[in-house]
Amino acid sequence: MTDYDAIVVGSGAGGLAASVRIARNDHSVLLLEATPGLGGCLRPFEKAGYTFDMGLHYVGELGEGEKFWEALNELGLLDRIEFIELDPEAIDRYVFPDFELRLCKGKQRFKEQLIQLFPKEASGIEKYFGIYEKVTRASESFMDIEARPLQLLGWVVRNPVMLRYGRVPYQALLDTVTSDIRLQTALAAPWFDFLLPPERAAVSYGVGTWYHYLSGGYYPRGGSRALRDAFVDELEQRGAEVRTSAGASSIDRRNGGFLVTFAGGKQATSRVVVSNVNPVVTFGQLVNPNLVPSGVAKKAKGLRPSASVFGLLIGTDLDLPALGVGSGNLVPYAGYDVNKIFAATMAADSPRVSDCFFVNSPSVRDPAAGLAPPGHHSLEVLAGASYAAFERWADLAAADRGEEYEALVAELSDQLVSTLERFIPQLSRHLEFVEVITPLTLARGIGLVEGGIYGPEVTPDQMGPARFPDGRCGIDGLFLAGAGTKGSSVFYSTLSGVQAGRKAVSYLTSQ
Ligand SMILES: Cc1cc2nc3c(=O)[nH]c(=O)nc-3n(C[C@H](O)[C@H](O)[C@H](O)COP(=O)(O)OP(=O)(O)OC[C@H]3O[C@@H](n4cnc5c(N)ncnc54)[C@H](O)[C@@H]3O)c2cc1C
Repeated sequence: MTDYDAIVVGSGAGGLAASVRIARNDHSVLLLEATPGLGGCLRPFEKAGYTFDMGLHYVGELGEGEKFWEALNELGLLDRIEFIELDPEAIDRYVFPDFELRLCKGKQRFKEQLIQLFPKEASGIEKYFGIYEKVTRASESFMDIEARPLQLLGWVVRNPVMLRYGRVPYQALLDTVTSDIRLQTALAAPWFDFLLPPERAAVSYGVGTWYHYLSGGYYPRGGSRALRDAFVDELEQRGAEVRTSAGASSIDRRNGGFLVTFAGGKQATSRVVVSNVNPVVTFGQLVNPNLVPSGVAKKAKGLRPSASVFGLLIGTDLDLPALGVGSGNLVPYAGYDVNKIFAATMAADSPRVSDCFFVNSPSVRDPAAGLAPPGHHSLEVLAGASYAAFERWADLAAADRGEEYEALVAELSDQLVSTLERFIPQLSRHLEFVEVITPLTLARGIGLVEGGIYGPEVTPDQMGPARFPDGRCGIDGLFLAGAGTKGSSVFYSTLSGVQAGRKAVSYLTSQ
């Protein structure tokens, strides 16, 4: 007799989705979360009357029948959550030194915009979209695949484009379609959504990010917490048990099922476990090493984390809509070479975070949700940053990090605010509230490995079967969900949770 049918470890999007999927099949679920709050990256930062989103600024594929819509439908959440559509003319605004590109809704319109900006490159742009069709079709069909050798082989045979583009970086595709560095930069403009430059990112991300948003960009009404709360409300209605400040410290076998130790010595048993914790930690620290197949241990250990961010959460009394701040995201660029921009941003010494960063305003998007005090607005400003630049202060509390740390934070903050003043004049004189986010904030607060905001980095050698795309890990009854499985985003984590939940249900019913 076990205490629960399923124990889910970690309450990020993947853990929440898996818990809901299992609970909806009338199985008992215990969800364990290490921190005092639920949601992982979906957990908002709330202070001084402001509510900021940590890890969900926008999401796509929400039209009826599209992948994210389908996942929410399967989880029974469509009635629990509403989404605001971001400005379809400017989901993202990429502002380069001498032109602006807008990620608009509609592939054809977006292609026409590119051709208008680069008329001499029309044939290269057409070629790009030809490859785009094949790569996105391949990625879509990979989504539900079982990562077994025969299935993988069949997938490659059906998608020969991946023989050419599956193992090379996005730069190889860009070089095939154009030698114009400005167009290459335009085609790599949303690199921020996976934090890797073209010379390192997988083609499926370089191309797939366009695909994800070209049918519209969306923001949960009420902010990222509203998505988190939709999951939690459904769990409560289904009678699942949810515990916070209850970090799991070990996962072991007991009577053919599992024994999970948590919260400093409490124990519970279950027939299945879903781990929403990064595979590096799941297999490096939680699961009894004797249970882990050597290939799985090696694969998990070798996964490198994604880059992190330096960010400012700003409250201001400026009238942002009157200054032209819209519902979409603003991405200023200082130059035309994303590979160089990435290197400057990620430098361990003297990083230059202002060369490209990402800005949005939750309170402009959703003025009725009370995300900022009356008469005020909020701004989230995020730039790529390396853990290495902050690592030496990792063991110290923020107040004890000393002058050098304070100077670095002040320098990076100045870079961002002064660049942003080109778009929001006088901002530096209207900073009513500022909270700094560093890689250390994310490592400590959410447990992200090295503060990496997207789980394992999405280089070609860490894609597909090099991670855990179908949630299986070679241990019967143990499944994985989250950014270490399919890919990095709320979208992929939610889909992975649905998949892990389905697998858990079929395992439970087959026993
Ligand atoms: C600054 C930032 C901006 C982002 N912007 C976007 C965006 O706009 N759109 C988008 O789609 N994605 C975005 N992302 C990425 C996205 O938020 C994440 O990829 C996704 O939410 C990760 O979900 P997950 O399921 O992997 O779980 P996570 O969110 O990583 O949560 C894992 C949970 O497990 C808990 N945990 C860890 N160890 C234990 C343990 N031993 N026991 C119990 N619990 C444990 C953690 O405390 C955490 O709550 C962003 C991320 C960040 C940080």
